[in-house]
Amino acid sequence: MRIPSFKFPIISVSLLITVFVFIVGPVHADQVVVYSARIEQLIKPMFDKFTQQTGIKVRYTTDNEGALMARLQAEGKNTPADMLITVDAGNLWAASKAGLLRPIDSQILKSNIPEHLRDPGNEWFGLSIRARTIIYNTRKVDPSELSTYEDLADPKWKNRLCLRTSKKVYNQSLVAMMIAEHGEAETENIVKGWVANLATDPLSDDTRAMEFVAAGRCDLTIVNTYYYGRLIQKDPNLPLGIFWPNQKTSGVHVNISGAGLTRYGKNPQAAEKLLEFLSSISAQNLFADVNMEYPVNPNLQPDPVVASWGKFKQNRINLVKAGELQAAAVKLMDRAGYR
Ligand code: FE
Repeated sequence: MRIPSFKFPIISVSLLITVFVFIVGPVHADQVVVYSARIEQLIKPMFDKFTQQTGIKVRYTTDNEGALMARLQAEGKNTPADMLITVDAGNLWAASKAGLLRPIDSQILKSNIPEHLRDPGNEWFGLSIRARTIIYNTRKVDPSELSTYEDLADPKWKNRLCLRTSKKVYNQSLVAMMIAEHGEAETENIVKGWVANLATDPLSDDTRAMEFVAAGRCDLTIVNTYYYGRLIQKDPNLPLGIFWPNQKTSGVHVNISGAGLTRYGKNPQAAEKLLEFLSSISAQNLFADVNMEYPVNPNLQPDPVVASWGKFKQNRINLVKAGELQAAAVKLMDRAGYR
């Protein structure tokens, strides 16, 4: 007896399924897939705790935000990712603008995260606060001389200021938030004043800027405080002081690391649970402390070392402006000669 006619279709159906599973990947309701621009050591402890509590597994891939966003874009509806974690509201805004995120309506997220630290359209949510503040050389600056970011444009700081490059999104967001507060013309004058006060060409990163301050090559700079924390931990004798500007006006410029659910993720319910968990009291200190940042959840205190730097009033303009005004900020810094 000959039955070869059955063989071929059976093989091709199973082949098709194999190819389908290979391309799309199996969908597990008890698993969340995360693309993270935060490195493994900053996310794994929280994911492990979440899995312990819920039984939901978390798989993750880490890379820089540009690569992750390009990947989400290229994968489109076939993406295995349920969640994107990245730093800076400017990046989260760009992901939202590119249609990579989906809005979620969660009372838990709304009550755990202050309004200015999440997207008004509910597509991204801050999970830790990073404060961008003034660091000064304690041998060369009396803190009573210091007041605001705007004051760093005053000629009294001539040849005394160091800045990180304007190419970094942190400074683009800072200037964008200044535009939101002061308008373009006034902000441009301030940034021109900064440039006129530079002691050296803009530097590659926050740590290098502080090393220049500590070495006396300039007197002060603007950096994210977790870099200060890392540097001081390595060398507690560095003559560096931390100053909270704009305490009588708009408050310290803050930014976030945060997350959103991907538009085409296959497990939005589980991903929403993970996001809610990350904003909760049981995960917030883990999330913030591991990088010497501040919890977004106002019911929690920061890590004791971070708390020792003092309390400050933060700027409460919604961080969506960091994205909306990013292009304007980049052009403004270029016009002002800030490289
Ligand atoms: Fe950073």
